[in-house]
Amino acid sequence: CGIVGYVGPQDALDVVLEGLRRLEYRGYDSAGVAVRVGDGAAGELASAKKAGKLANLEKVLADSPLPASTIGIGHTRWATHGGPTDRNAHPHLSADGRVAVIHNGIIENFAALRARCEKRGIEFASDTDTEVAAHLLAEAYDELPAGPDRFAEAMRVVCRRLEGAFTLVATHADEPDTLVAARRNSPLVVGIGETVDRNGTTTPEYFLGSDVAAFIAHTREARELGQDQVVEIDRVRGLTVTDFAGAPAEPKAYTVDWDA
Ligand code: GLU
Repeated sequence: CGIVGYVGPQDALDVVLEGLRRLEYRGYDSAGVAVRVGDGAAGELASAKKAGKLANLEKVLADSPLPASTIGIGHTRWATHGGPTDRNAHPHLSADGRVAVIHNGIIENFAALRARCEKRGIEFASDTDTEVAAHLLAEAYDELPAGPDRFAEAMRVVCRRLEGAFTLVATHADEPDTLVAARRNSPLVVGIGETVDRNGTTTPEYFLGSDVAAFIAHTREARELGQDQVVEIDRVRGLTVTDFAGAPAEPKAYTVDWDA
């Protein structure tokens, strides 16, 4: 239902929760967040999710806080597959806990993909159509050679296997600077901003949203992803958009002109 992602110098959880609050108007039945913590290869994901209002999630986070982070994702769910329970709330993690995925829409062929994963011994932790994307993404990533494009390429590999409607955003424990996202038949916008610190140093920051409300408090500079596109937001390399085959693509640039 509602999607937020953030890469930049600010505390990711603050940015993500504020984005989710601004997406509450869409209606939802559960909410969750994941952040990526640690240095370089020693990274880990930390996540929290809860059925009910955002306030329920905020209570969970107050009772067991997540570590500080500068890369994070958040979701408000409107259940289509699997009841509105804690375990069905997003993010969904891969079996090894290295990948977290949030999803809007419906993966039509999830049952066949899930059956194939289960045959390989993967145990599912939810009843959603979404979870299969987390397992497939972890597997695709592990099969690709190391390199700057690895995470985005893994997302493209997965998207080529999915049918239906999806906006997907993912974070990986091994990727300290990068979020990847994709869309088909479901909207995805990128926000491009910057933060100026006490010393006057400017640092770029990037946002992902199911709509611009997710980041309107931070920037009005937006890019709208086209059908069947994958985007990588990276704190060093910036924004890279391709189609599902990997060919470069141009998102539509615009400035949001309504009041926050
Ligand atoms: N189909 C997914 C689920 O039921 C995503 C629903 C949504 O768009 O929030 O979990």
